Amino acid sequence: MAAADWPGRFAQWDVPGRTLSPVLTALFIALLSLLCASPTCAAEPVLAALPLPELTAHLVARYGGQQPAQWGPALPGTLTRLPVSGVSGVPGVSGASAVPPAPLASKAGPVTVALTFDACGGGYDATIIALLRELRVPATLFLAGPWLAAHPAEAADLAADPLFEIANHGARHRPASVTGRAAYGIRGTRTVAEFVDEVESNARRLAALTGARPRFYRAATLFSDEVAVRIAADLGQTVTGCTVAADAGATLPAPVVARNLLAARNGDILLLHMNKPNAGSGAGLRAALPELLRRGVRFVHLSDAVDPAGVR
Ligand SMILES: [Zn+2]
Repeated sequence: MAAADWPGRFAQWDVPGRTLSPVLTALFIALLSLLCASPTCAAEPVLAALPLPELTAHLVARYGGQQPAQWGPALPGTLTRLPVSGVSGVPGVSGASAVPPAPLASKAGPVTVALTFDACGGGYDATIIALLRELRVPATLFLAGPWLAAHPAEAADLAADPLFEIANHGARHRPASVTGRAAYGIRGTRTVAEFVDEVESNARRLAALTGARPRFYRAATLFSDEVAVRIAADLGQTVTGCTVAADAGATLPAPVVARNLLAARNGDILLLHMNKPNAGSGAGLRAALPELLRRGVRFVHLSDAVDPAGVR
């Protein structure tokens, strides 16, 4: 599907007064193309300032002919661990040389982990948020478009609470593909244009909600191809996986979720779901969190631990 097929979808997120004239747009894109000729593109930060149609046209021109060869939940360029002290040599990005992490019970010093929760669509497990607030445990919340549409008041409430970092889980909750490849029966985005919309329209929606552009993007199902990973990076969105899928897509009973959390190691990014109130995720978290706090485990937002310049 060509970029021209998408103006209706883009229009809803356009900012009034920011549309460039066709001549200026052409000049701007030409300038970007020149600046982006090298693998390290010095002009990337300005991409997010373009209106969505122009931004999409630029990225379609840049990536439209590329056929991905890889498909998985932790491709190179994906953030899967925190680059915390005590995990020296692990920069936190999949594909780099990894050193086995220190176990929680080791002498390695303070243990730092990031709790992350996906809100894919449907329900809302308010007990998870209440528990995090009760225990003052920070977390990063990956909000998808379907969940935002179903829970506008709750989204505003979470966005206003500094205990939570708000992150991007995609406008339509699709795996990150440029060819429509599926994972777990969920079809991925089908083109570069569709993937740009998946990432960028939700990033802009979240920026409007929180006042700050999100830094981290997690694909639905975690699966992505390598072209999508590069596009997300161009958009300033770090593709984020996890170290431990602690509730296995909200399919695990509470005791197993708790066991997974209690086995966490320094630098782990722990993934649970906050949109399945009948799953074991909330009860498992309640069973494990007091013990982790008793052990002195430190919980951080992803942006607290990950240098913006260190994940490209
Ligand atoms: Zn999801």
